[in-house]
Amino acid sequence: MRWKDRRVSTNVEDRRGGGGAKAGGISIIGLVVAFVAWKFFGVDPQQAYQATQAVTNAQSSQQGSAPQNLTAEQKEASDFVGTVLADTEDTWTPIFKQMGMTYKPPRLVLFSGVVRSGCGTAQAAMGPFYCPADQKVYIDTSFFKDMRQQMGISGEKNQTELSRQDQAGDFAQAYVIAHEVGHHIQNLLGISGQVQQARAQVSQTQGNQLSVRLELQADCFAGIWAHQNQKRTQFLEQGDIEEAMDAAEKIGDDYLQRRATGQVVPDSFTHGTSEQRMQWFQTGFKSGDINQCNTFK
Ligand SMILES: [Zn+2]
Repeated sequence: MRWKDRRVSTNVEDRRGGGGAKAGGISIIGLVVAFVAWKFFGVDPQQAYQATQAVTNAQSSQQGSAPQNLTAEQKEASDFVGTVLADTEDTWTPIFKQMGMTYKPPRLVLFSGVVRSGCGTAQAAMGPFYCPADQKVYIDTSFFKDMRQQMGISGEKNQTELSRQDQAGDFAQAYVIAHEVGHHIQNLLGISGQVQQARAQVSQTQGNQLSVRLELQADCFAGIWAHQNQKRTQFLEQGDIEEAMDAAEKIGDDYLQRRATGQVVPDSFTHGTSEQRMQWFQTGFKSGDINQCNTFK
């Protein structure tokens, strides 16, 4: 998959390692502001310092700012994720416009360890998820590493070349992001809300059926992203689609549920057979048309 030198989204919140360390440290600006507040306004310096810290922390989590001490590998991961997110923005903005709506893109939170979301606390490596309450996609980048190493998802087999190794399975990773953004689309269009209401009125088996359809539709939406992005950027390389299909098959429920120890229910990828998932991805990919993605009929 080709992804370098394209627009990188500003909607990425990097909350990995470095961010937390920075928040706990002493900020010079905070101290200066606190001193000025104490000297000239009679404000308790400790209170003033804490207030500026709160603002600084809020700003760094609001804006797409990255922690300072990232390794080259971590930096590349955020560039990659930001590029794919930008690709989804450039895909869905015109589609929503055609429907007479304005697309409000989700924010994407990169984290390691534990993260607090609008849907509860999430543990690292339990898999990516979308939280409708705060409209954010949460991704622990070690999940991508796991995808490559433990599950053997690698688009490139050549492990001797570092650059190749970094690119291994990149389209499968992009597909995971596009699938999560698919859940955001469902949220914006009111589909997930309707399904949630419907679920309350039917049996558990029927309710699970509805969840299956929701998952398959997110796959179809990921297919639309692949279609539109290919038209716009010709980003696909030989074997990319097969790679994503391979990933869809391998990211099974046992893998993710084994890791689901936090409060958040991760995107399980459980529902629907791999054949159904491939079929709906292909439907979106071949048509590029949102009207073809009615998995509920
Ligand atoms: Zn999903």
